[in-house]
Amino acid sequence: MHNFLPYGRQWVDEEDIEAVTAILRSDFLTTGPAVDKFEAELSRVTGAGNAVALNSGTSALHAMYFAAGLQPGDEIITTPLTFAATANAALYLGATVKFVDVEPDTGNLDAALIREATNERTKLIVPVDFAGHPADYDSLNEVANAAGATVVADAAHSLGATYQGRPVGTLAAATEISFHPVKPVTTAEGGAVLTDDPKLAARARLFRTHGITRDAAELTAPDEGPWWYEQHHLGFNYRLTDVQAALGTSQISKLGRFIKRRQEIAKQYSAALSDVPQLLLPTERAGVESGWHLYVVRVTGEPGRRRTFFERLRELGLGVQVHYIPVYYHPYYQGLGFKRGSCPVAEDFYARAVSLPIYPQMSDDDISSSIDRVKRAVKETL
Ligand SMILES: *Cc1c(COP(=O)(O)O)cnc(C)c1O
Repeated sequence: MHNFLPYGRQWVDEEDIEAVTAILRSDFLTTGPAVDKFEAELSRVTGAGNAVALNSGTSALHAMYFAAGLQPGDEIITTPLTFAATANAALYLGATVKFVDVEPDTGNLDAALIREATNERTKLIVPVDFAGHPADYDSLNEVANAAGATVVADAAHSLGATYQGRPVGTLAAATEISFHPVKPVTTAEGGAVLTDDPKLAARARLFRTHGITRDAAELTAPDEGPWWYEQHHLGFNYRLTDVQAALGTSQISKLGRFIKRRQEIAKQYSAALSDVPQLLLPTERAGVESGWHLYVVRVTGEPGRRRTFFERLRELGLGVQVHYIPVYYHPYYQGLGFKRGSCPVAEDFYARAVSLPIYPQMSDDDISSSIDRVKRAVKETL
């Protein structure tokens, strides 16, 4: 039969493995010099003034929201077309979530719909760069400014992408990225907050280590003794290890190459499937270079056919997925009172979506084999 092609996967090479084993032989295992180096590399490749590495994208979201001042009673506005963590992290801080609908072409938060959703409690607007395509940050920042809110980005998909020539990491007041294995580069588990604001970075850093500081300038009782440290906030243990950071630094050196390969794969899919009317292909807006984290096609006919198509693709050995179940469909969110029907564009997007295999290590043979299987499944089921 066919070889199995997952929808995404990491590419770890011998150089990465050597970087990790070198740390295992060193003095530091958890947060130490390798994390400092990784953070410096993240700043360098993104142009963000500060990078704070954390042990997952989810903890990075939590730290970013905390650092941006999110408190009980505040509200965030975000997209339902995302992984639940984007919204969950606001709930961790006692804030509430308002879901606003997405643009039909990109699946990104629709800035035009945000204005009427804002109120005096709106603290943060959180776009997700769906599938690696940056959201419309100029419009989002404008709407946020008018509402007295701040844009912070969930860029778990889009490290390495650009918007109007500016890199992801510099497009919002703060940006969260993830290093889960399917993401643009990996540390196994990991994440980071990128920001030009040193105060925000310092708060995220504090949150990463229980809210504890050793900074003499911050201490209320600096003369207590050399052992003295103080907890100033209720933080967490969200530290990334040096073992993971070494993998991250090695991976980051390949980011440009990885993104280029993803762009090539997307181009090949789009060329080969453009004459298939049963599928709506993903777009790339003018001024945007997508990171192509996902290649999401949508069935154009009866959305109910999506399931048969999906199941046939799985039978043919493609590890297709659906991104995303709208967050408020989850029973937990239904329990909070969210109702289906509130974001019809996102719901329609979800109902039609299938994510095809895309990852930098896909060979040309893998790509053409994936295309053949997609065309076959279209013929048989759509
Ligand atoms: C992966 C992901 C996250 C969470 O990242 P983890 O590193 O898995 O915790 C958050 N938001 C989006 C959109 C993601 O894809």
